Amino acid sequence: MENTSLLSDSIEDIQKAAELILGGSVVGIPTETVYGLGADALNPMAVKKIFAAKGRPADNPLIVHIYSIDQVQILGHDIPDLFYTLAEKFWPGPLTMIVPKNDIVPLETSGGLETVGIRMPSHPVMRELIRLSKPVAAPSANRSGYPSPTKAEHVINDMNGKISAVIDGGECRYGVESTVISFENENTIRILRPGSVTKEMLSEYADDVIVDKAILNALEEGRTAPSPGMKYKHYSPKADVILIDGDYPDFCRYVINNSDDSTYCLIYDSDNGKQLPCHYMTYGSDGSEQAHNIFARLREIDNLHAKKVYVRSPEKDGVGLAVYNRLLRAAGFEVIKV
Ligand code: AMP
Ligand code: MG
Repeated sequence: MENTSLLSDSIEDIQKAAELILGGSVVGIPTETVYGLGADALNPMAVKKIFAAKGRPADNPLIVHIYSIDQVQILGHDIPDLFYTLAEKFWPGPLTMIVPKNDIVPLETSGGLETVGIRMPSHPVMRELIRLSKPVAAPSANRSGYPSPTKAEHVINDMNGKISAVIDGGECRYGVESTVISFENENTIRILRPGSVTKEMLSEYADDVIVDKAILNALEEGRTAPSPGMKYKHYSPKADVILIDGDYPDFCRYVINNSDDSTYCLIYDSDNGKQLPCHYMTYGSDGSEQAHNIFARLREIDNLHAKKVYVRSPEKDGVGLAVYNRLLRAAGFEVIKV
């Protein structure tokens, strides 16, 4: 394929992107979570191109993005009332809900599952694109396993020559992928991937909100992943990521004893980096800021050829849980408690 063209977020360019999608091509698109690699969700040939561009395992399902609530019934069935309650509250926005799929959704899109994850995004470019085309299947627009892209340049770095175009819509607002939930029964939901719609927010609308064990631990041997993405190493830069869980003075003590010239640290804005013997960057002062910055920082650290990066663990509540979950996977579950 020739070079990937860079489109603006003008109406004309969104129209061009919609035509590409209707013609079965793949386009990089800004969303409020991270950049997505979008294709016609109902066209198996188009969807296969997404898997090829990312190098994504075929059993890792894609989320289907919609423009209006009446598209839900086209894609899925047996939709619980709670689905609509949550849609009313959190859509358009960073929440994906899993329901049994209709035949119109190809197995290529659902990774072979009989269910489909549906989300109505809020980003105006993504919304307009879906309105002008079709329901859009879109995973994060990174090479499989690598940190998710939150700027158009990240998508170009990973996908140049592999997809038709990228729309530059600036930096993504939230910075981590959507919260993914399934329904255990009418009033109980299970969080399969934490995101910016938090457990605390969901708890206001459901009797019970279960945080799946695999969010904070490696998948147990022999257990089928309720969400196939849980099986794979994810979000990792080339540098070795090591999560350090503890207060800043203890973090410093550990780093002082265990670093060299090629070591970087990722710490909070409020931490005093001058106490560290190595290079450092900061990634925010609360869960939302850390979510916004984390993937861009991991990419920046790679560009500096760091060999090892010690990350001061975020708090594990609110949006912090989503950041912790991504870092845990980037670190291959290596956490040092200090
Ligand atoms: P990404 O496309 O990179 O944001 O990843 C989407 C994730 O959502 C996948 O890795 C899955 O784990 C999860 N997911 C999407 N659809 C389903 C589904 N039908 N059932 C379970 N998990 C899903
Ligand atoms: Mg992804």
